[in-house]
Amino acid sequence: MYDVIIVGAGPAGLSAAIYSARAGLNTLVAESVFSGGQAATAYEIDNYAGFPKINGTELALKMETHAKDAGAAFAFRPIERAELTGGVKRLHSGGEVLEAKAVILATGGKKRKLGLANESRLTGSGVSYCATCDGGFFRGRTAAVVGGGNSALEDALYLANLCKKVYVIYRRSSFRGFKSIADQVAARENIEVLYCSEVTAVDGDFQVEQITVVNTQDGSQRQLAVDGLFIAIGMEPANEIFGDDLKLDERGFICAGEDCRTNLPGVFAAGDIRTKPLRQVITAAADGAVAAMSAFEYVSGEQR
Ligand code: NAP
Repeated sequence: MYDVIIVGAGPAGLSAAIYSARAGLNTLVAESVFSGGQAATAYEIDNYAGFPKINGTELALKMETHAKDAGAAFAFRPIERAELTGGVKRLHSGGEVLEAKAVILATGGKKRKLGLANESRLTGSGVSYCATCDGGFFRGRTAAVVGGGNSALEDALYLANLCKKVYVIYRRSSFRGFKSIADQVAARENIEVLYCSEVTAVDGDFQVEQITVVNTQDGSQRQLAVDGLFIAIGMEPANEIFGDDLKLDERGFICAGEDCRTNLPGVFAAGDIRTKPLRQVITAAADGAVAAMSAFEYVSGEQR
């Protein structure tokens, strides 16, 4: 049995692993895909203290190496179900059960879908949720980005370096993302922003060929010929495995305070999956440290 199993190897989970292992706890990190979570798909992170500019994958690999050097073990396998009540926590994965005295949930978020009729069919054939992963396929071509947060703005800037033309389609009249990034978008000649606009259809036989955009102010509709549609409309909590006993907020994020303790003894939440006002790499990493120390107190019986 492990002292602590951390579910999710984004910045929250990896930081938790460093603190947990350094505190002497027998620590396992369970991750279904690869380390880094959303941060690993960021081309450039420029607001993580100490790293004025760093590629997301590079930062993730540094964190993973740091956690391994501290003594944490890794299992790259999906957790399908978690039994979180009781003294022994049980995590089900591929017919096996992993057991721990405490669990830190750091599962983060998953990309929100627009819900268009052809969206699933054309995913991988022009529809994408990750500009840094797929942008290279659109070199010299035309792409559209949907959304008005930091992800959409950063995706637009990334694509503008590759594409001949990038549309940004946003449903409101001014961006939600940081002004510094919005200013860079405004300064790029090959980016055209369509405010107060929504994408209502994506079409193409085998690849994306065009999108339909409706202006929400005057109801006018236009078709834009594009090769790629990048959807960057935020995240939903990745909360499928938790079961019914864990208290979630109305949006599905785990209710936990600054000490990262949930309503279930021995279960802690860290990073984007926790209710919190600011979701950034640095706040996720800070959560990981706090959650690990709360888990340490729980496991060693040093409850406050
Ligand atoms: P976000 O901040 O939640 O923004 C999502 C955007 O998508 C919003 O503009 C929203 O519109 C729009 N949207 C949501 N549902 C939509 C729908 N059905 N149709 C059309 N538009 C829709 O998400 P994010 O940009 O992925 O960022 C997530 C978090 O990571 C944020 O906290 C962000 O600050 C952080 N982040 C930070 C950086 C950085 O610091 N450099 C980079 C990337 C992400 P409304 O505005 O109308 O709600």
